[in-house]
Amino acid sequence: MKISEAVTLLDKLAPPQLQESYDNSGFLVGNRENECTGILVSLDVTEAIIDEAAEKNCNLVVAHHPIIFKGLKRLTGDGFVQRTVMKAIKNDIAVYAIHTNLDNVLHGVNGMLAGLLGLSNTRVLDEKQGGLKKLVTFVPTDHLEKVRSALFASGGGFIGNYDECSFNLEGTGTFRALEDGNPYVGEIGERHYEKEVRIEMIFPAYAERNLVKALLESHPYEEVAYYISTLDNTVRSIGSGIVGDLEEEISEEELLFMIKNVLGAEVIRHTELLGQKVKRVALCGGSGFFLLPAAKRAGAQAFITADVKYHEFFEADGEILLADAGHYETEQYTVELLASYLQKNFPTFAVLKSELKTNPVRYLY
Ligand SMILES: [Zn+2]
Repeated sequence: MKISEAVTLLDKLAPPQLQESYDNSGFLVGNRENECTGILVSLDVTEAIIDEAAEKNCNLVVAHHPIIFKGLKRLTGDGFVQRTVMKAIKNDIAVYAIHTNLDNVLHGVNGMLAGLLGLSNTRVLDEKQGGLKKLVTFVPTDHLEKVRSALFASGGGFIGNYDECSFNLEGTGTFRALEDGNPYVGEIGERHYEKEVRIEMIFPAYAERNLVKALLESHPYEEVAYYISTLDNTVRSIGSGIVGDLEEEISEEELLFMIKNVLGAEVIRHTELLGQKVKRVALCGGSGFFLLPAAKRAGAQAFITADVKYHEFFEADGEILLADAGHYETEQYTVELLASYLQKNFPTFAVLKSELKTNPVRYLY
C-alpha cells in the first residue's frame, strides 16, 4: 500500500477543506508515493514519536496536532519543531495531521467523547455557516441513472443522516447543434426537442471540483448545461463542539467526577457549582472556550472544554458550569478514533497506537 492511500482515506474521514483558516492540517512531510510500511497514530508529533515510529518500522505518523503550524522559514534544528521535522525527513517518515477538520465533523473527537459520557440527541454545538452549494443540471432520460449515481458517488446529495438526496423534474429541453457541433442526439442545424430531467442536489462546497468532473464525465452531451449556486444554509453535521443529553439528570459534582474518571484527568478546574441538576452537556475537546456562548444558547447546564484562562471563567456568569479538564485529557481519544478507523479500512495492515503520553503538562499536589 502506498502512503497516498492512507492519506486519501483520512481525507475522507474529515476533508482537509473543513479545517479552520489558521490551521495547517493535511499531508505535511514526506513522499506520498512511498510504500507504507506501517502507521503510527499519536496526538502530537515530537522527536520521541518519530523515534517510536522508526523503532516500530512505521513510515507514516498520523497525528491530531500539526507539527508545522505557523510556517517554517528555515530548517536548522533550532527548536523542537524544526528538530522533529528534520528527524522525520532523515528517517524517511511521513507526517499527516488531521486537526480542526476532525474537530469540525460530528463523528470526530467530540462525537467520541459524547459517546463515552453516554450523551444522546447529540448535535453540533456551533454549526458552520455556509459551505453548502446546489447543483442544477438537465439530463436525457436514458442517462438519468448513470449521471445521478456519478453525482452521488462524488459527494452530491448528502444531508445529515441521509445520502442520495435529489429532486427530479421531467421536462423538455431544446437545442440546435451548429456546424462544428457533434450532438449526442439531433441533426446539425435543426432545433431538437429532448425529454430531459432537471436534477437538483445540494453538496458540500469542498466537493465541487469532483462533482463537476463526475457530471461532465457521465453526461452524454457535448455541452452540459448546469448551474451551481452558493447557499446560506448551515450544515447541521459540520461545525465545532457537540451538545447532547445525559440519560438521567445528575448533580454537577457527579458530572465532574464522571468526566474525571472517563478522561483519567488528574485535576479539573471549574467554576462555582450552581446547585442545579445537569441533563444537557456541551463539550469541546481542546481549546473550546470560544464556544461558551453557543453552549449557553443550547441550554446546556455544563460546558466541558480545555485551556480556559482565569478571566474567561468569569464569563460563565452563573449561567452554566464551565469546566477545564485539560487539553491532552479531552483529546486523547483522538488516537483511538483514528487508529480504529484506519484499522477497520486496512484490516491486514499494521496500524499502531503510540505508547507515549505526549502531554507536556504535569501536575504537582
Ligand atoms: Zn488540540
